[in-house]
Amino acid sequence: EPLIDIRNVSKVYDSGTVGLKNINLTIKKGEFVVVVGLSGAGKSTLLRTINRMHDVTDGDILIEGKSIIHYKGKELRKLRRKIGMIFQNFNLVKRSSVQRNVLSGRVGYYSTLKSVLGLFSKEDKQKAVDALKQVKMADKIYSRADELSGGQQQRVAIARALMQDPKIMLADEPIASLDPLTTKAVMDELKELNRKLGITVIVNLHSVPLAMQYADRIVGLRAGQLVYDKPIEEVQEAD
Ligand code: ADP
Ligand code: ADP
Repeated sequence: EPLIDIRNVSKVYDSGTVGLKNINLTIKKGEFVVVVGLSGAGKSTLLRTINRMHDVTDGDILIEGKSIIHYKGKELRKLRRKIGMIFQNFNLVKRSSVQRNVLSGRVGYYSTLKSVLGLFSKEDKQKAVDALKQVKMADKIYSRADELSGGQQQRVAIARALMQDPKIMLADEPIASLDPLTTKAVMDELKELNRKLGITVIVNLHSVPLAMQYADRIVGLRAGQLVYDKPIEEVQEAD
């Protein structure tokens, strides 16, 4: 049984713009999938569809065999807990410490009164340290987020996502604003989460060479349609 099973999914925005058109895609547990395509091809829409940041217009999505498209309330929160996400612009609270940013990724954090007052349990603090160790950022725990380089900020964003022990990590152009050296650090980190922790990773990228370097499988989108899907062994230079 696939971990993620996307069946005939289409997404039309309220504006009438087609984001996705009849997508069929199954992803197995432990895969490292890179989605490539030009700007506007539907890559972000696909990721936002998987974690229910928005609804589909048509079709169905199964995660671990269960249809998620009608999830509400508690079920939806449980689903989102399984899925970590990172973005091109990191989405950290710039003036907050690394520690606070990472702790904010904890399940239910925003709904507790303690969080309003900035109080964290020992367990949560230890979990944040562990997540920061995983991304090699533990020494920056008391730094302000905006004192860090882009690559360091993205690694903190990964640590924040790890606070919910995700089974799936979605990364939307995570290296688009980074230089080549920090790009490597972030992509290596995603690969390590995949290999070491068994997290299924889906990454949107513009770069085909990077996709070829890291992916188990490359998926191509064009104008909302899935136009390419091959395991890395079958990807040809000429493709
Ligand atoms: P990519 O991530 O590949 O650049 P997107 O998924 O962002 O592509 O966009 C796919 C298409 O959907 C584009 O035509 C884009 O303009 C449109 N689109 C994306 N987000 C929205 C939105 N929130 N509202 C309306 N149209 C959108
Ligand atoms: P990317 O291509 O990197 O995914 P975009 O610049 O297309 O990013 O989109 C940035 C934000 O603007 C997203 O939140 C997306 O939902 C929204 N957006 C993109 N295209 C449109 C659109 N045509 N109409 C409304 N919102 C859009």
